[in-house]
Formats: sequence, structure tokens, C-alpha cells
Amino acid sequence: MARQFSSVMPVAAVFDMVSAMVPQPASYYEAGQFANIADRLLEETFGRLIGWPHGRFEMVTTSGASLANMTAVLVARNHCLPQSWNGGLAVQGSRRPAIAVGEDAHFSVTRVAGIVGIGQDQVIRLPLNERRQICPERAAAALDSAAFRGLDVFCVIASAGTTSIGANDPFPELAALAKRHRAWLHVDAAHNGAFLVSDRLRPRLSGLGLADSFCLDAHKTLFVPALCTLLFYREKGMAETAFPQKDSYVFDPFEDEMTAVQSGVKNFECTKRPAILNLWLAWSLYGRHAFADKLEHLVTMTGVAHDYLANQPDFFVPYRPESNILCFVHRPAGVDSRRLSLLQIQLRDRVRAAGQYLLSKVDLDGQTMLRMVLMNHRIGLHDIQGVVAEIRRHARDILENDATQSASRSGITGSSLERT
Ligand SMILES: *Cc1c(COP(=O)(O)O)cnc(C)c1O
Repeated sequence: MARQFSSVMPVAAVFDMVSAMVPQPASYYEAGQFANIADRLLEETFGRLIGWPHGRFEMVTTSGASLANMTAVLVARNHCLPQSWNGGLAVQGSRRPAIAVGEDAHFSVTRVAGIVGIGQDQVIRLPLNERRQICPERAAAALDSAAFRGLDVFCVIASAGTTSIGANDPFPELAALAKRHRAWLHVDAAHNGAFLVSDRLRPRLSGLGLADSFCLDAHKTLFVPALCTLLFYREKGMAETAFPQKDSYVFDPFEDEMTAVQSGVKNFECTKRPAILNLWLAWSLYGRHAFADKLEHLVTMTGVAHDYLANQPDFFVPYRPESNILCFVHRPAGVDSRRLSLLQIQLRDRVRAAGQYLLSKVDLDGQTMLRMVLMNHRIGLHDIQGVVAEIRRHARDILENDATQSASRSGITGSSLERT
């Protein structure tokens, strides 16, 4: 329950083995026909769930959302700054190209700024509201102020499922804001994008279809082997503008039945695993509802965990979960706030060392918190109760240790705890 690794549907794992034994470079139709067709079939299926009109949008698969985020920003850059692919960013004149991201954006998003030549100093951080979503009003002010400082924000990146607490940003407002600034809107929906498959959860992504692009990680919340990421563009024809090269032996100027559907020109990867086949197979065998049921159960269970923890006087749960990610603080009476942050790290370490459970930690609002991500549908309330009991036991032990240490070396300044 620590991280966003998925418990994998067994049949998808078996199929992964088959596709490992029968090499199919998924970028090239002539050698990987099955994978390229599976791409098209799932593109259609997901397009319907988003509500996009048939034949007007486009999807590519990438190995991971990190790569999908980078690819989408390249498309945005080439679209908004058409000279940049050939001329580099230096030809943009006196205004500096910039991207704007939420304060809680995944690190892969800010990393892109370094990779595609924008530079970390040109990453605008958009402020959040009390639910840790990008606040549209304060974001508008941040973009105006960036423009005033000579920055040309060509891409706004929102999140569907922030890594810290799983929050979804307000997409309709951000789409309007991006449009006003003639910027591309990309949504990093790596974690919560899979809500599309569930009638109950899909409304939480309301307005996602207004984005110019978004990606979702099937290897996280669609339970197939890693890596399998779907990257969607609202407008057909955008995907091939990521890498607008003409001069390669693999790219034919004239399309025929062997090149019409291949994805090589749209992908960073040359040789690519046909990971989409695992998703296609599981989807074909079980149907959408198998994925929806599993995901809904995990989100419901996270709500149950929230309610349970919120009822414990020695636990603090700052945010109601929108997804299957929950942050909380164990705060036994009489522990000051500085000590409290350190205690959470010690608890994470002790729980990990004990070997029964695995938790992660996150720093929010100047406070270190514990974090759980319910990815396995077998996790039940008894597991939450189990980890709570274990946390309490370790905390008692740690705080007793504190007390005996400070008694034995009263008068000595500097705590060895700070180094542990
Ligand atoms: C996991 C995650 C990523 C990175 O995705 P990979 O598939 O691991 O490359 C990016 N953004 C968000 C919000 C994520 O949850």
C-alpha cells in the first residue's frame, strides 16, 4: 500500500510473456501488426469514453507517463513555437518560452523543462486551493505576472491524480485559461485517467476532454504489466508533430497499407514493446466492467480507510481522498510539530523494516505525512486496522526511547534522532 504499482491481472501477465517470446516491435506495422491494430481498437474504445467524435482524435502508446508527458510537451512546443524544432529555442526572440504546472505536479513534468530546452527557471508553479487542486483564479494571476516578466507560457500542465493526494485539477477552468493565453493544455492523468472506464468515477474527470492532450498509465490503474501508457491528442494529426523528421530510412513519404497505421513517426521509442496487447487482451476477455469494478472498489476502500483513520483521535487526515491515495499523520498526544514530522519518517522506516506493510511519505504544508495507495483489491479494513496498530506500537517504542535518551543525557544539546 505504499506506491502506485499495480497488482497485475494474471491473464495480462501471461500474455506479456507471449509477446516477449514473439518479438513484435510495436512501432512498425510490417513487423508488429497486432500491436498497431490493438492501438487503433483501444483508441476508439477510449475515445468513446472521453466523448470525442470518431476519427477526429488520436492516441499513441508510450513506455511510461514520464515519456508521454515529454512527448506531449514537444508537440505543444512545436505547435506554439513552430521554429523551435529546426532553429532551437534561441530563435524565439526576447521572450522566453515557459511552461506552467501545478505545485503538486509529478517530477517527470518539471523534468521535461530541462530536457526540451525550456529550463527549470522557466517553470511557473501554479498555486493550489484548499483541496490541493490548481486554483484557477490564482493561476490566472500567476500567468499574467509571468507574461509581464517576459515569459511566454506555451503549455499549461494539469494533473488528474496528483502523486501526493490523488487530486484532480479543475479542467474546464484551466482549458479556458490556457485558451486565453494561446497555450496548450496537457493533463498528466497518469494515475486517475483510468477513471474513464467507470461510470461512477468518470464524472470526477469532468472537462478532461477539453484538454489538447492527456496521458494515462494502464500499468497503474488498469492493472496490466508495466510499462503501458496511453497518450491522447484531441486533434488528429498532432501526434506526428512531436518528432517532425523526414530524413530516415524507416519513414516513407508515401503511405501504403504497411505504413498507414504505424506509430514509429509519432513515438520517441524505436524498438518498442507491444505492451498494449496485454491491455487489449484483458479488455477483450473481461470487458470494461472488470476494470471499473476493481478501480471503484479501491477508491471506495480508500474512503473507508479515510473514515476509519479520521475517527482515531491520534490520527489526523487532512484531505478526503478523490482517488485511492490517502495521506495521514500519526500524532500521539504531547508531540510537538517538528518532532511529529520526524516521527512519521521513523514510522515509515520501522513499518518497512518490520516487513508486514509498506507505506510511503510525502511532505505537504510543511508537515511530513504518511501515505498509502490502495492498489490491491484484496486489501480490506482489517489491513488498515493492522497497519494502524503497528504504527501505534512503533510510535510508543520510539517515544519511550526519546524519553529515556533525554533523561540519560539531560544537559547535552543536539539530538541523535535528527541524524537517524
Ligand atoms: C506515475 C506517474 C508519472 C510517471 O509515470 P511513469 O509511467 O512511471 O513514467 C507521472 N505523473 C503522475 C501523476 C504519475 O502518477
